[in-house]
Amino acid sequence: MTTRLTNESINSLIEEQLAAWPEAKENFFRLGECRRHSVDLGDWHGAVQLNPARIRSTGAKVDARSISERPCFLCEANRPKEQITVPWISGWQLLVNPFPILPVHFTIVHPGHVAQAEIPLEMAAMAEAAPDLVIFFNGAKAGASAPDHRHVQAVLKSELPLVRLAEQNHPSSRGGWMSSDEFGLDLPFHFMSAVVTPDTDGMKTLVRCMSAFGIDKTDGHEDAGLLNAFMWIGCDVLLRIVVVPRRAHRPDCWYAPDDERIMVSPGAIDMAGILITPMEKDFQQVDDALGRRIYADVAFANHLPEQIKSRFLS
Ligand SMILES: [Zn+2]
Repeated sequence: MTTRLTNESINSLIEEQLAAWPEAKENFFRLGECRRHSVDLGDWHGAVQLNPARIRSTGAKVDARSISERPCFLCEANRPKEQITVPWISGWQLLVNPFPILPVHFTIVHPGHVAQAEIPLEMAAMAEAAPDLVIFFNGAKAGASAPDHRHVQAVLKSELPLVRLAEQNHPSSRGGWMSSDEFGLDLPFHFMSAVVTPDTDGMKTLVRCMSAFGIDKTDGHEDAGLLNAFMWIGCDVLLRIVVVPRRAHRPDCWYAPDDERIMVSPGAIDMAGILITPMEKDFQQVDDALGRRIYADVAFANHLPEQIKSRFLS
């Protein structure tokens, strides 16, 4: 297989994988039954998706002890024998996600068992090789269910509302980084957006990703694990990047007493506008106001702190 992923090769890879793996096939077909409702988030619209199969990921224990005590499910030696591995960019391995949130959903895994760490710049080459996909990254403390094994994911870029929001508001002519504060919109949280030009300025823009961080709301410390990142090729055929700095992994409602608890554990797909709830009762409760509150709990609602923006803009 070539490194370039066309619509056709994406579909045939998924078909081949589902034919060989009944559990993945069942999860894939159940996805068609997942209900959705929309949420009005000011000048942006998102969706809430009821996805019971994601309980495994939403409820995952990601503290250091739980992680060290389980076999890593992303290491090749521990993967189910049915799972097809496609060697891809720089030796990273392309896998069909057996617990999909969207119909096209890949996990792309580093060949070695190394920690999630900073945003991988390989995402740029992946985005170029797969122009229909958006490649995204969950920082170790922002939704990664395997923070000990470096990985990214990919879905069709047409599926994520955040992709459209960035493209519509960050003009192609403005190369480099800008903050969504400058969009002049009422948004539930703020992020950094980049247009990467194919020159040395573009390289500098890309490399800034590696020093991105969020700020832990409990202790005020900068933390490189508290962020999500997205890379894709825009309609203008330029590489686009969005980095969402985070304040927490889970919203306050996650920690509420049992009967009031809402199981929402935002990773990159949630921050891109699709809030995943594995439980029916939570699905019904997440309305416009709670949607905004969840985003405000885990990211920066009014504006991004200067300390974060200056890392990109200086
Ligand atoms: Zn591993």
